[in-house]
Amino acid sequence: MQKSVFSVDVEEWFHILDVPSTPALAEWGALESRVEKSFRSMLDVFAEKNVRTTLFFLAWVAERYPHLVREAVAGGHEIASHGYAHELVFRQDRTTFTSDITKAKDLIEQAAGIAVRGYRAPGFSVTKETPWFFDAVAEAGYAYDSSIFPAERSHGGLSGALAVPHVVATTHGELVEFPVSLTPMFGKPLYFFGGGYLRFFPYRLMLSKAKEVLREERPVVFYLHPREVDPAHPRLPMSAKRRFMTYHNLHSTMPKMRRLFDDLPMTTFGDIVDAGTAAFPRAAR
Ligand SMILES: [Zn+2]
Repeated sequence: MQKSVFSVDVEEWFHILDVPSTPALAEWGALESRVEKSFRSMLDVFAEKNVRTTLFFLAWVAERYPHLVREAVAGGHEIASHGYAHELVFRQDRTTFTSDITKAKDLIEQAAGIAVRGYRAPGFSVTKETPWFFDAVAEAGYAYDSSIFPAERSHGGLSGALAVPHVVATTHGELVEFPVSLTPMFGKPLYFFGGGYLRFFPYRLMLSKAKEVLREERPVVFYLHPREVDPAHPRLPMSAKRRFMTYHNLHSTMPKMRRLFDDLPMTTFGDIVDAGTAAFPRAAR
């Protein structure tokens, strides 16, 4: 069977995007930290189920808790980068963005002691307004990216992008791209495999949607955050709709994750890249 990728964006409970109450970088250090406990509970399940994952560390977290990065390496996981300051791509210019992801790669590599090859943007925030994105990611030395949400959405979204893993030709060589796996329901492309929808939909529906993606010989790209396995974490004030998407059904995440590992074989983005991407479709940047 085609394998899937289970990925985690390793960040704190307050790294929520695009709500007025999101704390600024200068305030982060004074807030309660919960990432060690929640991330370790994920590592425990990965070890128990003998699953290797791709972990996109926010470099701010890797800098403060380098032992978490080392524990993840010791567990056989792939270490990747989620940038440093957790700012939406389309709110930055190319110079600021490049400096953020270059600094992040460096800090995470120092903590990990091994090379970092993958990048994921906060909030899948690549849009038509950031045409320099792929050049900048390749320029910073990354071999692959997983930041495309290939449809319209509230923040980010690149409708018209290829929905399958592909290779982007950039000014700094080829960059492999792993878009999140959308699949239609009632004619609308939806993402069942991460965020609010993963927690909202019943497990059986998610599994049958995952099998639809796998039948098309696409890997299912799952993603979670440590806060999603920590139902007791503090809440940020936000609108009722965002509150629902952010906080409903948090208690369901861990049981769903365990069942997924029993039902679907997993690999890492790095292993897919290493297996060869010659057959992947090519896209202009
Ligand atoms: Zn994030």
